[in-house]
Amino acid sequence: MTTPLTYPGPQDDRRPSGFDRRKLMKGVAALAATAGTVRAASAATVTPFGQTGAPTLQTPLPLGPLPGARYPDSRLESMKKKGVSFGPTGFPAFAGTMAVERVATGFRWAEGPVYFPAGRYVLFSDIPNNRIMRFSEDDGHVSVYRQPSMNSNGNTIDREGRLLTCEHSGRRVTRTELDGSITIIADKYNGKKLNSPNDLVVASDGSVWFVDPGYGIGGYYEGIKADPEQEKKNVYRVDPKSGDIKVVVDDFVEPNGITFSPDEKKLYVIDTGFTDGPDNPSHIRVFDVDVAAGKVSNGKVFAEMPKPSITDGMRADTAGRIWCSVGWGDPNEDGVRCYAPDGDLLGKIHIPETVANVCFGGQQRNRLYICGSSSLYAVYTSAQGAMKP
Ligand code: MG
Repeated sequence: MTTPLTYPGPQDDRRPSGFDRRKLMKGVAALAATAGTVRAASAATVTPFGQTGAPTLQTPLPLGPLPGARYPDSRLESMKKKGVSFGPTGFPAFAGTMAVERVATGFRWAEGPVYFPAGRYVLFSDIPNNRIMRFSEDDGHVSVYRQPSMNSNGNTIDREGRLLTCEHSGRRVTRTELDGSITIIADKYNGKKLNSPNDLVVASDGSVWFVDPGYGIGGYYEGIKADPEQEKKNVYRVDPKSGDIKVVVDDFVEPNGITFSPDEKKLYVIDTGFTDGPDNPSHIRVFDVDVAAGKVSNGKVFAEMPKPSITDGMRADTAGRIWCSVGWGDPNEDGVRCYAPDGDLLGKIHIPETVANVCFGGQQRNRLYICGSSSLYAVYTSAQGAMKP
């Protein structure tokens, strides 16, 4: 099921047949046989895979600590106000001598952050600009890691330290091998194209769990407009041995961010269906999960978002708390929320932009990286991220 290939190069049925090498060779043979005149292969008419946008022309927002930063950082809001003594008590985002920083900016829509501990850098997607960016933690250097990225969205890292990526315009999930080559992990289900994989997580047994909402084929800004071929917007699992793709859950309106509890006994999946209609969900669901069997049970709502805000992405920490993005609604809710494993809201980190996704990084996995619209933010916490390669 896994197919090595040269990147980039998803097979799109709309491509002119001149790009099919076998057909091209047949054509060459026919040309030789007839000794006629033939125009050059119509390579120039190939549709680009994903829009390569115009990057913002200047640094629109200042880097460093946010304006008015003072310890304790007022952008940390604890929901546990009883017995307050020092700082935002009861909120594991609070680590004392720290404040939220903006560490990179100039993107159109930052998404899908993932931390690579061996290299001390964060990769994240800038979806409309069709690129994956890299933020180096040691000196704050920002560079383009991959362009075109096939309008990549969610990224994660597996136990072997390899990058896994969801691609909107590629309509697939890929893995970047340690030698830099790209392997397609999933691009079809039941013989039909996926919609537009959005976010993913790799379990400790190597199984890849990803969500397939419709956002990346809804227009030309964050992907390429296309009709869905799948009847539903599913949560899928790719078997680590056979590569087989199976549906895990099929009753989401728009499945989105996905993660496990640190013991892999719970699966959390976001539903951002609210973007399709006011009566649709804006919440996180939680399931009991059997990772090896690829089965979930006892699904229930874990946390409701304050509509019209939605949460898009999340990560767990080692204590099983869930850290999720919040944005698109009341600006006072923009930022990050932290929930206890029982769904109790512990606190908020207020960010001055709509937030899409988060990941833990730093050499101790205690620094939370936050993709907030045009910028990447970072804040040291007293928690540690659960997922590690
Ligand atoms: Mg997402």
